[in-house]
Amino acid sequence: MRSASDPDPASLSYPPVASPAPGEIARVTDTVHWIRFPLPMELDHINLWLLDHDGGFVLVDTGLAWPAGCAAWEQLERQVLAARPLRLIVVTHLHPDHAGLAAWLQRRHRVPVWASLETERQMRQLLEPMPEEEIARRGRFILSHGVPDLSSFAASLSGERYRAAVSGMPAIGHHPRDLEEASWSGSRWQWIATGGHAAGHLCLNEPARRVLVSGDQILPAISPNVSATAWSADPNPLESYLESLERLAQLDPQTLVLPSHGRPFRGVRERALELREHHLGHLDRLLEACREPLTAHDTLRVLFRRTLSGFHLLLAIGEAIAHLEYLAQSGRLSRLTDDRGTIRYARAA
Ligand SMILES: [Zn+2]
Repeated sequence: MRSASDPDPASLSYPPVASPAPGEIARVTDTVHWIRFPLPMELDHINLWLLDHDGGFVLVDTGLAWPAGCAAWEQLERQVLAARPLRLIVVTHLHPDHAGLAAWLQRRHRVPVWASLETERQMRQLLEPMPEEEIARRGRFILSHGVPDLSSFAASLSGERYRAAVSGMPAIGHHPRDLEEASWSGSRWQWIATGGHAAGHLCLNEPARRVLVSGDQILPAISPNVSATAWSADPNPLESYLESLERLAQLDPQTLVLPSHGRPFRGVRERALELREHHLGHLDRLLEACREPLTAHDTLRVLFRRTLSGFHLLLAIGEAIAHLEYLAQSGRLSRLTDDRGTIRYARAA
């Protein structure tokens, strides 16, 4: 993981569009506008997109449910949406900075919300109180990978952290599927289902104008988190992520990528290759380190330069397990479980 303040890679080019202030919009193409909202975390902003449709807009993603996000929306409602209303909300994936205000906006604007079936399933599961046995199962998974104690993860494992950042469950009116098309004000957008960062993640591509709304799948300055978790339906998220990068690398090289964090850029192939190299580098370092059997927690010092705690530690452990499982499932590491249930990975004999 890199921090949000890392410089943008020189291999990419950036159109000269200034970032909009909270509550304002900036035009990035003849049919797409950019909104940028603050986030109360190290990753300090999210980009949302307004696509022209029927005298109003299709909104892609909604922002986190917190007072500054609601205030920015109220300002936008007064300054922009009063004249050009929302027609539809689409959510790229379940994470709270993307899906957080979908229910709140749906109540205010009475518009449909679309998201993938898998996004809806996961949101429902997280928004309902979680049974104790499921919280315990999630905890055992983390402990089995060598994390010494769970005290700083309680709110994440129980779903409490998610529920605090999401305004409720929107009514999902349609579940877009891979390669399905949508026509909004003469623009033909195509959904691309992309795995690895979040099950059910969708990108939106407009081949004619060469525009990709990439969600968190491909970002210019940060490597999106790729985590294996106790609750993911995907047994090999890194494999899914690398496959999705290959697919996005096939897009027209001149595609303008509209990412959820950072600046719009061109260079989708170059960025997909850089991200692939980043993960292949992680895999090489892990193979080298696992001459001795190591837990996922042991490998954090191999993968990350800084000491991690709290939610960052949870993301990092998930990322380490995703890489170790990729190697185990391709036969390059063995997975060893001791009589206390602790899982270690070692170079296959
Ligand atoms: Zn995300």
